Amino acid sequence: EKKESLNFIEQMIDNDLKSGKHQAIQTRFPPEPNGYLHIGHAKSICLNFGLAEKFGGKCNLRFDDTNPEKEDVEYVDSIKSNIEWLGFKWDGEHYASDYFAQLYEFAVALIKKGKAYVDDLSQEEFNAIKGTPTQPGKESPFRSRSVEENLQLFAEMKDGKYQNGEKVLRAKIDMSSPNMHMRDPILYRIKHVEHHRTANEWCIYPTYDFAHGQSDSIEKVTHSLCTLEFEVHRPLYEWLISELEIFPSKQTEFARLNLSYTIVSKRKLLELVEEGHVAGWDDPRMPTISGIRRRGFTPDAIKKFIKKVGVARRDGITDVALLEHAVREDLNKKTNRVFGILDPVKLVITNWPEDKEEVLTAVNNPEDEAAGTRDMLFGREVYIDRGDFLENPPSPRKWYRLGPEREVRLKYAYIIKCTGFDKDENGEITTIYAEYDPETRSGQDTSGKKVKGTLGWVSVKHAVNAEIRMYDRLFHTENLNDIEDDFKNHLNPNSLEVNTRAVLEGSLKDAKVGDQVQFERVGYFRVDEDTTADKLVFNRTITLRDNWEK
Ligand code: ATP
Ligand code: MG
Ligand code: MG
Repeated sequence: EKKESLNFIEQMIDNDLKSGKHQAIQTRFPPEPNGYLHIGHAKSICLNFGLAEKFGGKCNLRFDDTNPEKEDVEYVDSIKSNIEWLGFKWDGEHYASDYFAQLYEFAVALIKKGKAYVDDLSQEEFNAIKGTPTQPGKESPFRSRSVEENLQLFAEMKDGKYQNGEKVLRAKIDMSSPNMHMRDPILYRIKHVEHHRTANEWCIYPTYDFAHGQSDSIEKVTHSLCTLEFEVHRPLYEWLISELEIFPSKQTEFARLNLSYTIVSKRKLLELVEEGHVAGWDDPRMPTISGIRRRGFTPDAIKKFIKKVGVARRDGITDVALLEHAVREDLNKKTNRVFGILDPVKLVITNWPEDKEEVLTAVNNPEDEAAGTRDMLFGREVYIDRGDFLENPPSPRKWYRLGPEREVRLKYAYIIKCTGFDKDENGEITTIYAEYDPETRSGQDTSGKKVKGTLGWVSVKHAVNAEIRMYDRLFHTENLNDIEDDFKNHLNPNSLEVNTRAVLEGSLKDAKVGDQVQFERVGYFRVDEDTTADKLVFNRTITLRDNWEK
């Protein structure tokens, strides 16, 4: 077997273990509970949990919950269930908010070292003196406050003496650094907001930069992996750890997952939910883990896809067709084939006795012998798909399906020959008539006849009705990073079509939420959560073939 080569992060870890720098590794997945996880997060999850698995280390789940006004326990719960669904188990479950007291002490320590100060400038006033990447900034007039004064003001901030925005705590670093993040970044801001875990205990909250690295360090995270946009934050990450003389977690950046035809930004996905463009965070068109799960994507397919994408140091855009391909491959192996007719038309076999029924044997999954066979009842009246019949096929010699005087096989049953049809006043075909050849039963064919077309069918007497939600890509634009107008202008108006005409074979009458099948020659479908005792609802997970191919 070919030995897999290590990506750059695995190489680094391998070296750190071999050199004895670490005895074991500790990673973490650090979501902010301000929305549902999306397919981009799956990459970070697979990476962090996958590395811990591969190198025998540990991976924590840590909620970076430092923006109380945007966060909620609903998000915490969905994140936990999504990670479990993907098949990962975290070691510690932590919250940056659990460290608020410790983080406050870290801030006090910085003030005592003369490395942090309370600033009274408003955001606007500070921006005016901050300078630009090519121009040094000026120092805030409050930068020279004494340690004692800073300690007192910071304590007063904590005690609620000031209003939102009146004061902030800044690191005292370098107002002329070429890295704008090193120009006295904010460590704490005042927010008189209730927190979903600490309620009203705090009215000052640490910024991402102050909470993140210090939380890593508290948890003794050896390898802190984040996406490339945080590369410019790394000097600050290292400065804080070094000034506080705490456990030296090391930050390493990797490319985020961007997908064609897909939005991977919680903020924008929230907009879609709030403005009603989708039915919710778990709408099957959403690229959220909850959405694609409901749609019928599987953990195995997602993991395989993420593995294929790999870990790079440069941002790019991955073709969503690669994800869809992984889903098809996985479902091809795992799902049973059944007959589902989306656009049915009735076919009457005129030489079949009125009440006669015959039991036929159907193969559940040609890719998986263990899936076995099932019985199907065949009778005088069946539905076939309207698209499988043409009165006047444009290229008659290439049309292998049904038409006047044409012969096809009904799968697992008999060869039939079309003898006529009825039309309504609009020219729509209402019934097709055919005769079957008794010598042609599948598996026992003694006729010697050969036909090129095999059609799916559903017995009229045993047919099950269902609502089929035909989902397609939510956006019709390939590269949504390149657009200049509102991303919502790029929504695909045909991303959902509800089909209530469809008929399914009788074996599906007891289908359960979460069941997944392939409707032969049509696509993969999953029984949706909206299913009730009276109504079966299927989601189309994906078509059998890619119809978007350029
Ligand atoms: P968004 O931009 O959608 O709000 P985020 O980065 O703010 O995402 P977090 O909750 O902070 O969301 O993310 C948790 C972890 O997941 C972070 O380490 C982040 O870098 C990573 N992550 C987020 N989006 C992606 C992505 N598209 N590809 C890979 N990793 C991602
Ligand atoms: Mg983030
Ligand atoms: Mg964010």
